[in-house]
Amino acid sequence: MLLALTLSRPPATDLGYLLSKHPARLQSFELSFGQAHVFYPEATCERCTAALLLDIEPTSLVRTKPGGFPLEHYVNDRPYVASSFLSVAMGSVFSSAFAGRCGGHPELVDQMLPLQAELTSVPARGGESLLRRLFEPLGYELELTRLALDESFPEWGDSPYWHLRIKAETRLRDLLAHLYVLLPVLDDEKHYYVGSDEVEKLLRRGAGWLKEHPERELIASRYLKHQGSLRRETLARLREDLPDEQPPTEKVERLHDLRLQEVLAVLKESGASSVLDLGCGEGRLLQLLLKEKSFQRIVGVDVSSLLLERAAERLRLERMSERQRRRLTLRLGSLVYRDRALEGFDAAAVVEVVEHLDPHRLSAFERCVFEFARPGTVVLTTPNRDYNVLWPALPAGKVRHGDHRFEWSRTEFAAWAGGVAERHGYQVELRPVGAEDLVHGAPTQMGVFRRDH
Ligand code: SAH
Repeated sequence: MLLALTLSRPPATDLGYLLSKHPARLQSFELSFGQAHVFYPEATCERCTAALLLDIEPTSLVRTKPGGFPLEHYVNDRPYVASSFLSVAMGSVFSSAFAGRCGGHPELVDQMLPLQAELTSVPARGGESLLRRLFEPLGYELELTRLALDESFPEWGDSPYWHLRIKAETRLRDLLAHLYVLLPVLDDEKHYYVGSDEVEKLLRRGAGWLKEHPERELIASRYLKHQGSLRRETLARLREDLPDEQPPTEKVERLHDLRLQEVLAVLKESGASSVLDLGCGEGRLLQLLLKEKSFQRIVGVDVSSLLLERAAERLRLERMSERQRRRLTLRLGSLVYRDRALEGFDAAAVVEVVEHLDPHRLSAFERCVFEFARPGTVVLTTPNRDYNVLWPALPAGKVRHGDHRFEWSRTEFAAWAGGVAERHGYQVELRPVGAEDLVHGAPTQMGVFRRDH
């Protein structure tokens, strides 16, 4: 199996620096499943090609692949095709290039360069269409040749293997990361056990491109060997990742803190001793609530088990005293299904949650909270869309977060909140949160609902 990387701008031998491999030397590396060799078939000022030759020890496969027909361990395609073996080899042989280190020439790391990668045999389950869907959105031009099953017997037809050449003006480390993730995805196979650290690896190697890739679901699914829970975790974390056009992080953070302080103030004033944090996420409000002795019973609810785990970590649930522990419950649940455990509380906070619900679920959410759970006080916050024009980096018409299903203008929020109050016997007061603009209002809007009796 051969991977050839070519740089075609002078001085092309910069490729040697980028890969930390000298063009004049053949270097060999021992891997658990065989050897990798790096050498340069050409190294001129105009064009320089580094080849990674992977020599897989067929007997090493015996240990890694149980099942199959008796000789499968010895007679299979693995030694000859681009697969997860190649990804592992690339990661190990080119580790500094992956990490964006380039001794002596750090400026090369971020340079957009005319690069090409050529692979002699890529098993593509999904064929040409999938090859294109995976690489073209990343800006590559593809040259594809389908390999015959056996050149001496053309009548046997085509194989599922392709000779692939991809070209782009890109950074070397991006090219490496794309191949690292996408080759095993094309192959739809992994030679090792896939667990939750694969999610970390995928997010790390996918940083900066996977989030926006139109095939991210298929990529995550195949990369994680079709394990639904790992795929969902990955996609959720990609969504959480702030889109690039986000307002500056510290500004968002400050607003978030302010919002939590305002919500806390309302909850304290209400005199509540039992509180719900609905859509508690990673537990930042819960952390504040726990510090107030007046709140004796605190329940955080969220639909994401991943975020609840983070909340447990943030709150150091494991190390909490017995007495503190009794005050707090983390509950996995959805706010669009009735949950009797949420009934009978003095107050509830719903901070930046409604905009994550599909609009057609809003009426279910409304009934769950205001008709069934029915706390004495409900504090609810949501972004004010009118204000978005004032986020300098936010393109017109965009929402603030990739997972927001909608954002309400002040008029829309007032109409919804008024309707809810009227339908369920509450009084509602609307308040701005954050510095108010004369025309566009405050960045966040808050509704404080108080039950009539
Ligand atoms: N209140 C937190 C988190 C806001 S982000 C804070 O202010 O920091 C929105 C949260 O709503 C996420 O944690 C998400 O998992 C949760 N969420 C979205 N839909 C939900 C649903 N149907 N039921 C419960 N929680 C939901």
